[in-house]
Amino acid sequence: MIIPCFDLSRQYDSIKEEVQKSVNDVFESGRFILGKNVEEFEREFSSYIGVKHGIGVGNGTDALHFALVASGVVLNDEVIVPSYTATPSVLAISHAGAKPVFVDIEPDSYCMDTSLVEKAITKKTKAIMPVHLYGHPVDMKAVMEIAEKHSLKVIEDASQAHGTEYRGKKVGCFGDAACFSFYPTKNLNAFGDGGLVTTNDDSLAEEIRVCASHGSKEKYKAAIIGVNSRLDAIQAACLSVKLKYIDKWNASRKEKAQTYNTLLADTGIVIPSGDTLKKSVFHQYSILVKNRDKLQEYLKSKGISTMIYYPIPLHLQEAYSYLNYKKGDFPVTEKAAEDIISLPMFPELTTEEIKIITNEIKTFLNVALPL
Ligand SMILES: *Cc1c(COP(=O)(O)O)cnc(C)c1O
Repeated sequence: MIIPCFDLSRQYDSIKEEVQKSVNDVFESGRFILGKNVEEFEREFSSYIGVKHGIGVGNGTDALHFALVASGVVLNDEVIVPSYTATPSVLAISHAGAKPVFVDIEPDSYCMDTSLVEKAITKKTKAIMPVHLYGHPVDMKAVMEIAEKHSLKVIEDASQAHGTEYRGKKVGCFGDAACFSFYPTKNLNAFGDGGLVTTNDDSLAEEIRVCASHGSKEKYKAAIIGVNSRLDAIQAACLSVKLKYIDKWNASRKEKAQTYNTLLADTGIVIPSGDTLKKSVFHQYSILVKNRDKLQEYLKSKGISTMIYYPIPLHLQEAYSYLNYKKGDFPVTEKAAEDIISLPMFPELTTEEIKIITNEIKTFLNVALPL
């Protein structure tokens, strides 16, 4: 018995014919760079999120980079971001020449603790980057109020939150711009890399397109020093097929989370709260447990694969040692990094598999941690 942490083959089996037809159509069209398929997906996705513009780019990291640059973030500006996130959130800040200023997270949502943001603002602060981690929405009302008060830009990192709702709207429509990744493990995923920026701002949308297409506004004229980062036409065609299923897949993830929660109640493990169950689209289903590494090893020996997102927070990473943060600076983040483990989570995971996983966890707790 092998239970993978994530299994794309089951998803592919369910949509194989549609995907193959869409790929074949692109092949036959002979149009591989931008064109109809990219435009269609940009329109479909931005309308799904409820924003005016969607700009397809090569990946989520570039999406963040372009959104920052187009929003006016320049050398030595500061951008406030949680330390507990995927590395690319912070890499994009560095690539824009800016300095990440870290804040701690909330214990329950693992998202930016918005009550700490104002204290992190300095004269150099230009933007806030809330990250909707694991599919959970950041408290965007609080973020937007702070941003307005201090005239800051807001770039949402929604790479793990396609379809997450906050106060009745999809995340990705709140900030000046928001960024999505279609990396194969994300809730909406391509057969390779892909990314997209959403925004309601016409001139920002235009700037982002210029950044991503060699810095050109008109063909053969370089307005700025841009890069080449486009959403591939084949990926766009596949993403249009998958977008039709995203709500169904997210609903299924929520159900799995509910089942996990029911089966793990009363074990002493920290499971997602009722609030998280309501709001998250469960990109990850993460729990906090003592002896996390031992649990991971034990589950592995039983054929159950798990992941640690993230073992080392950004403020303690070697690449960011120049910022001189130290252990103890962000206690909630550091505690999460120590105890967190993400269990198998994908729409096609079966109840039977969840039962096996949770039974093994209970066995481990009894054996390794007698009460
Ligand atoms: C995946 C991810 C990204 C970057 O996406 P890529 O497409 O791999 O460049 C950025 N931020 C977060 C939070 C992510 O999970």
